[in-house]
Amino acid sequence: MTGAGNWTWLIPGRVPTLVDAGVGNPRHLDALEEALGGAALAQVLVTHGHSDHASGAIAIAERMPAARFLKMPWPERDHRWEVPWVSVADGDTIEAGDTSLTAIHTPGHAPDHLCFWHGGTRAMFGGDLAIEGTTVWIPSTLQGDLAAYLASLERVLALNPARMFPGHGPVIDAPASLLRSYIAHRREREGQVLDALRRGDTRPETIVARIYSDLREALVPRARETVTAHLQKLERGGRVRRAGEAWHIIET
Ligand SMILES: [Zn+2]
Repeated sequence: MTGAGNWTWLIPGRVPTLVDAGVGNPRHLDALEEALGGAALAQVLVTHGHSDHASGAIAIAERMPAARFLKMPWPERDHRWEVPWVSVADGDTIEAGDTSLTAIHTPGHAPDHLCFWHGGTRAMFGGDLAIEGTTVWIPSTLQGDLAAYLASLERVLALNPARMFPGHGPVIDAPASLLRSYIAHRREREGQVLDALRRGDTRPETIVARIYSDLREALVPRARETVTAHLQKLERGGRVRRAGEAWHIIET
């Protein structure tokens, strides 16, 4: 589900900084040590508390005891990776390398999701906000929130980033067009969900069967979560209502 794996980004300089912790793979730690060239890692900025971004904190803390670990709190989850987390809030300025980054709260994929913004070059460390070549999973059972995600995309679009360094996939050289395509894609999906409800579907699984053609069996649970995320957004917007397990459209 993480494609070819996940990136961490090293910012060398006065405050050697790693963006995201990875999963603690010993080969990753060796490569990190080599890239540091004898410098001590000062800190790890974690974009969000999903295991592929945060779980490596424990192994890094063991091998690099000088490092601090920073993230926005996600109280239900942060205890899984037992390092002394330093709390980051939206808008915080964080010294990193020979410059500084600003934390941008971008919830949706995860409630604690942060992007790290470098205004001077308009570069952004994007975590899982955007992944070139695919869409981003909004896990409705893990506090994913589609409405929040769309607001986060708009917020980052307004910054007009020139480049995005993501948690997965290639560096994004045209972030604005990718983010706009995401917004259009979600709008289209929302229309499909409403259409399925109008045709009499009431459950996420039947909606999935209708709107995702040729979906591999292994991906059905994720599609169901995505559809549920759409239904929850529509419910909050007063467009659908839930009765037990069934969802119904509210025609105006
Ligand atoms: Zn994630």
